[in-house]
Amino acid sequence: MIGKLTGIVGPMFSGKSTKLIEIYDNKIDKENCLIFKPEIDIRYGIDKICTHDNIHRGALPIESSQSLKLIDYTIIKNVFIDEVHFFDSNIVFVIDDLIQLGINVYFAGINIDVHGHPMGFKGYNSQGFHMGELLIKCDQIYLLTALCESCGKTATRTVRIDNSGSFVGGKEKYQPRCREHL
Ligand SMILES: [Zn+2]
Repeated sequence: MIGKLTGIVGPMFSGKSTKLIEIYDNKIDKENCLIFKPEIDIRYGIDKICTHDNIHRGALPIESSQSLKLIDYTIIKNVFIDEVHFFDSNIVFVIDDLIQLGINVYFAGINIDVHGHPMGFKGYNSQGFHMGELLIKCDQIYLLTALCESCGKTATRTVRIDNSGSFVGGKEKYQPRCREHL
């Protein structure tokens, strides 16, 4: 049997991790589920994924797509990957392989970067893969929205309001915005 690919995308603060956790929570047999997160994202602790409302679930921190290949998937039927855009672009092929193994893969990630371009994977350049490469392969996509910090209408974009330091951050660095308020 071949697995299915489900994408959860949208700007920051659109509830992507909440949706990912909701799908995980609906799985009756947690023994065959694995949650992964990029090691780089330690905003809420190293070994858990967390929503902005502080709902969290245990997760395996992963350094690179290569590390994902080393996991024993013998009993695994569902894989959840949070903040998938923080991985290198080989994640696209690793996910393909998991699907072929019969595993359902659910990922959450940002679809559009702060410049309005497709969100690139780690180390992205103009020749690299971006989130679109994953999205075109999805069997189902949840396109989530947030509320624009400027006008309160539907936000589909993210802007960076503080350019200092690392690009990993929360409300102190990023705001959801509509197209009008970029
Ligand atoms: Zn707006």
